[in-house]
Amino acid sequence: MSATKTHGRHGDFAIEAKGLVKRFKTGRSYIEVLKGVDFDARHGDLTMVMGPSGSGKSTLVAALSGLLRPDEGRVDALDIDDLWKLSPGRIDRFRLQNCGFIFQGFNLFPALTALEQVMTVLKYQGLDRAEARRRARAALEEVGLGNRMNQRPSELSGGEKQRVAIARCLSKDPQLLFADEPTSALDGENGQVVIRLLRRAATEHGAAVICVTHDPRLEAWADRIIHIEDGRILDDTRRTPDPEATLASHH
Ligand code: ADP
Ligand code: MG
Repeated sequence: MSATKTHGRHGDFAIEAKGLVKRFKTGRSYIEVLKGVDFDARHGDLTMVMGPSGSGKSTLVAALSGLLRPDEGRVDALDIDDLWKLSPGRIDRFRLQNCGFIFQGFNLFPALTALEQVMTVLKYQGLDRAEARRRARAALEEVGLGNRMNQRPSELSGGEKQRVAIARCLSKDPQLLFADEPTSALDGENGQVVIRLLRRAATEHGAAVICVTHDPRLEAWADRIIHIEDGRILDDTRRTPDPEATLASHH
């Protein structure tokens, strides 16, 4: 099993949520998308949340990470008791300082080179230019893009773009890393690079990596698999990951 670092006042748990309920108004009625979800994740674990499209995975990530306020329930994360009791400014600061995000769509700035994409985030965090450049280079080397640092997104493949997004995320050394369908726009080979990097973020950086996906092929890398369906957790299983697993191409 991977090494588990302990940070913050909630001990082994990097994040713990209780009773999350989220409803959306549709016309005159509400649909309940999270129906009382209890969730936790540990440092050093790759926690996989699997479920079909529409089961509430992205909504759960948003509620856990301070992006979307739940209607009921609470989230304790790192040193924070009840994240949603904080002011919006403090929630934003918590996210900036502690959370990394990897989405399906990469979210890169078209005009910036790979190096600049990563540096921009670090400068936001208050690093000076030289230090931001040093850390950004190291993060890009780590994801195997040492020779692609000066390329813009239009000059990069899908897999390379996702690796830039991961470098940007890892350069912050986030304690909480949220990945929402990180491989779904990628072929098998690039998907494998990405899931291996997420595995390493947990094992080598000690991050609590929370990866939501409907792709069952990613299970091989996980320490824990939680199934969600129709806004409810169905089961929660601990397993031994296989970091050397291979992801066959699905195209
Ligand atoms: P998943 O990520 O598992 O595919 P989501 O969390 O994105 O699921 O969505 C769960 C359900 O909530 C879906 O039925 C979706 O249509 C609905 N939903 C998500 N966001 C909104 C919103 N802003 N307004 C109304 N319905 C929403
Ligand atoms: Mg989703």
